[in-house]
Amino acid sequence: MSRKEIENVAIVGSGPAGWSAAIYAARAALEPMVIEGALTAENQEAGTLPMGQLATTTFVENYPGFPVGELGTYLNTALDEERKCVLPPEAFGESGERIGVYGAALVELTRRQALNFGTRTIEEDVVGVDFSKRPFELRLSDDTTILAKSAIIATGASVRWLGIPSEERFKNNGVSACAVCDGASPRFANRPIVVVGGGDTALEDAEYLAKFASKAFVVHRRDELRASKALASRAKSNPKIEFLWNRVVSEILGNDESGVTGVLLANTLNPDEPPMELETSGVFVAIGRRPNVGFLKGSLELTEHGCVKRTVPFRTNTSVPGVFVAGDVADDRYRQAIVAAASGACAAMDAERFLAEF
Ligand SMILES: Cc1cc2nc3c(=O)[nH]c(=O)nc-3n(C[C@H](O)[C@H](O)[C@H](O)COP(=O)(O)OP(=O)(O)OC[C@H]3O[C@@H](n4cnc5c(N)ncnc54)[C@H](O)[C@@H]3O)c2cc1C
Repeated sequence: MSRKEIENVAIVGSGPAGWSAAIYAARAALEPMVIEGALTAENQEAGTLPMGQLATTTFVENYPGFPVGELGTYLNTALDEERKCVLPPEAFGESGERIGVYGAALVELTRRQALNFGTRTIEEDVVGVDFSKRPFELRLSDDTTILAKSAIIATGASVRWLGIPSEERFKNNGVSACAVCDGASPRFANRPIVVVGGGDTALEDAEYLAKFASKAFVVHRRDELRASKALASRAKSNPKIEFLWNRVVSEILGNDESGVTGVLLANTLNPDEPPMELETSGVFVAIGRRPNVGFLKGSLELTEHGCVKRTVPFRTNTSVPGVFVAGDVADDRYRQAIVAAASGACAAMDAERFLAEF
């Protein structure tokens, strides 16, 4: 069943890129429709819950505009009652406490800002698209179809985690998937850390983290790196980076108070060998991210890394005129909230120009 009206712009995704696109589109009087994603067990499992990746972390210290302050008062006055309850008490702080911005609070504030300017929302997943004719069709998980003159794809990416129970226990307490976001935290300063992976991201992360940590151990399941030769030789000649070959993290050790204190590393060549114990203050998982493109089923061109391909340099155009892309789903390099938000704004402006010319 098609919903009656034809949308000017349908925005798919409710992370920083989607909401920022919505703010710009709403202020351009386009009355955007954001398809937020659905709150389902499958999405929880896949790491694609509404509000995106930033909502899975604790305090965000590198998003411009949010130095520590009495943020609780601001959150209490800016957000609706029914949305405040999704935030944990730490996001508001104690009365008078000066705190930074919680990831989920940051996305809630951006959502509220988009709604204030007239953005409408649907809490469903997009499960299929037809971009071969206009208006475009976006099929939703409730079996309805949205018709739209333009679309912005902002479906982000999902972190590939190790998938061991102790990893879940220590997420945001020593376990991280973002070196740039968390590396400067005092908990890692002059202490050893572990980076898991053997590709470009793992080595870039190790190099970055070695600036703060006493030692960065790169744990890799094979004895050969996937990373580029230049990165590999730089990492190998860095005295603060040490490689542990043919090893996987079989368990993360620690306690609730201190967080991560160590890891057990199994030998991939000899699984019967007792695991090696290594002291560490943190585990940075760098085994890849999956751009969330499954629902596109080949409707847009992708890059060799599986991201939606931008077809015009410095623009948000895709292989289909009228379909634009923003955020991590098109980004295998920067993957930061501010970058995603900025590209959302660009996508909305590109959509606005497209609609004006058409
Ligand atoms: C643990 C962690 C900590 C981080 N910490 C920081 C930090 O401190 N600072 C920083 O700048 N960055 C941080 N990042 C990175 C930052 O979160 C991302 O760069 C940013 O969220 C990307 O925004 P996005 O809008 O492109 O995508 P996402 O945030 O991934 O949002 C994508 C949205 O699309 C929705 N979606 C997916 N598929 C569909 C579909 N088929 N239909 C409808 N909706 C769909 C999802 O539900 C989600 O809402 C962190 C990331 C992680 C994982």
